Amino acid sequence: MNIMKKLIVAIDGPAGAGKSTVARIAAQRLCYAYIDTGAMYRAVTWKVMRCQVAVDDAEVVARTAGTIDLRLEYSCEGTKVYVDSTDVTEAIRTPEVSQLVSVIAQNGGVRAAMVDLQRKLAADGGVVMDGRDIGTHVVPAADVKIFLTASIEERANRRWLELTAKGFKVKLDELKAEIASRDKADCEREISPLVQADDAVVIDTTNLSIAQAVDKIIGLCEGIDGGL
Ligand code: C5P
Repeated sequence: MNIMKKLIVAIDGPAGAGKSTVARIAAQRLCYAYIDTGAMYRAVTWKVMRCQVAVDDAEVVARTAGTIDLRLEYSCEGTKVYVDSTDVTEAIRTPEVSQLVSVIAQNGGVRAAMVDLQRKLAADGGVVMDGRDIGTHVVPAADVKIFLTASIEERANRRWLELTAKGFKVKLDELKAEIASRDKADCEREISPLVQADDAVVIDTTNLSIAQAVDKIIGLCEGIDGGL
């Protein structure tokens, strides 16, 4: 893809809307780095669980995030996530981590540490970053802002297919409840809640293929870059 300017592409939206898949492919096509900020909050959650930190001890949870040695490694197959040199790529996707991550992500100290890291990663442009607050808070000056969404039924169904393919035994109605509760926590939290930025372009993926959603994003980037 021949886009001259190193754009910052922010993709926000609720759980299971297809953000990471679409963002990863868009980044590949643009030859940009892909930054999965949800993986960063998941990594902190994994460490909190691993170290048996009391989840309601805000100070210790924040300190865990402030001192975490977190590394994201990008390749065509996806992002590998390391915490203190341990490969946690799979471990951060378990239902246990998914259940706790929105609670950990409400912690002000955790958010400050992650946002600081995310801003450094985006500083030189040439990035596609996905999350909940990228276009509203992390990089409000992003060149392209997308709000990617889909119906809750479709999102739960996609998560069910993804988790059962990995061998997890999960029930569709339980997944739907977990996603709804995560949406609620993410939308209602005090610091940087999930809201659509005023200048974001909404892409509803309920009836779109991955390729169609990616094409829309690339089209928006080309528009910014003067139609190259
Ligand atoms: O994107 P993913 O579903 O993996 O994100 C996991 C959780 O991390 C979200 O439900 C949300 O609580 C938190 N998160 C966040 N801000 C971001 C990205 C993720 O609060 N920028």
